[in-house]
Amino acid sequence: MTVGQALWPEQLSDQERAWLDPGVPADLDSSPDILVVGGGIVGVGAAVACTQARLGSVVLLEGDRLGSGASGGAAGQLIPEAHVGVDPPRLVDLMRLSLAAWQNLERTWPRGVGLMSLDWLGLGPTLAQFEALPPGAEQLSAEQVETLVPGLSQPGPGILVRDQARVNPLRAIARMAAGLPGAATEVHVQGVSLEAGRIRSVQTTAGELRPRSVVFATGTPPRVDSLDVRIPSGEVKGHMLTSEPTDLTLPGSVAPLATTIEDGRLMVGGTLDIGDSERVVRPEIVASMWAEVCAAWPVLKSVRIAHQWACFRPAHPDRLPVIDRVPEVANAWLTSGHYKTGILLAPATGIALAEWIASGDRPPQIDGLGVDRFVAV
Ligand SMILES: Cc1cc2nc3c(=O)[nH]c(=O)nc-3n(C[C@H](O)[C@H](O)[C@H](O)COP(=O)(O)OP(=O)(O)OC[C@H]3O[C@@H](n4cnc5c(N)ncnc54)[C@H](O)[C@@H]3O)c2cc1C
Repeated sequence: MTVGQALWPEQLSDQERAWLDPGVPADLDSSPDILVVGGGIVGVGAAVACTQARLGSVVLLEGDRLGSGASGGAAGQLIPEAHVGVDPPRLVDLMRLSLAAWQNLERTWPRGVGLMSLDWLGLGPTLAQFEALPPGAEQLSAEQVETLVPGLSQPGPGILVRDQARVNPLRAIARMAAGLPGAATEVHVQGVSLEAGRIRSVQTTAGELRPRSVVFATGTPPRVDSLDVRIPSGEVKGHMLTSEPTDLTLPGSVAPLATTIEDGRLMVGGTLDIGDSERVVRPEIVASMWAEVCAAWPVLKSVRIAHQWACFRPAHPDRLPVIDRVPEVANAWLTSGHYKTGILLAPATGIALAEWIASGDRPPQIDGLGVDRFVAV
């Protein structure tokens, strides 16, 4: 859920807005080969991957509108190299695969996904995370940084990584969903019926479905009747802001400062508001985010904030996602807790799930992301 006024819906065309809320198609397949539950970026990414892998008919069910959860409020940054030294190397490898998958979707998915290429410049505090330069990165001197971002209050060296990317997450979801024949919104999945260790049927507010396989991509782990999934999880709130349009541009995404986006706006965030679960925007947090950016880049002082919002990252205690089969259910998979990088990881997550469903074997690129890591010893 997103609270406040996000910029992303305003950037959509009427057609894209309509794709986010198709309702229930009259010809919805009640016995699909694949049923995906959850229409955030990860569920839509899974439905797309299963469709591209030709796993048969695919139905996607979302309880609200597509992108109404965490996905609709995310920054939409797709920057694997910014995670080097921060996240486990295997997860960074998965992020790199996923960026390549995003670029492939932009080329091959009907109407693309609205991918925008961008460079990432890491300054000051972010430099400490790198033991070695990430592949393809350039070390910049303080003078080179000053040329790219004139007027910083504390000029210093930087690291430049080219060819990263970003999306408007709602546009990406809308365009991906538009290419899916079986996406339905405002359909809540309530429960499942199990027989001999398999899901036989799924109860929804739009009636019963009998899918061959089910993928739960519900943000936090699925809470549906008769499915006993016990994985510790929660949410971590984050605030975002965008400025009014300005001529003061940055060379892409500059960490820990801001990102130049469409119309010359600057995007800042998200914060990590640990312990704050209230569904409200806190103006004092937004003001301090902007004050920090202005202190680092004083030329911005006369620029005003135009949009401010907050949303909630689904997370597990170790801050890594789960991509796994549902324990003791042969024909069901789940993916949850994508925390800070669900937009980035959505295509690779979907591809891994599609490969697993097709082959029956866990793909190696998602080793270590299983449910078993939470089993008490
Ligand atoms: C401030 C902020 C900035 C962020 N920036 C980035 C970023 O720059 N890059 C990045 O990669 N990630 C970013 N993220 C993280 C990203 O938003 C999440 O990891 C991602 O959106 C998770 O996607 P999801 O599809 O798993 O969950 P969600 O988007 O929450 O989707 C889950 C969906 O499942 C539906 N659902 C749940 N239960 C049911 C049910 N029983 N029946 C039917 N539907 C159901 C919900 O309605 C919801 O729409 C950011 C997050 C925040 C908060």
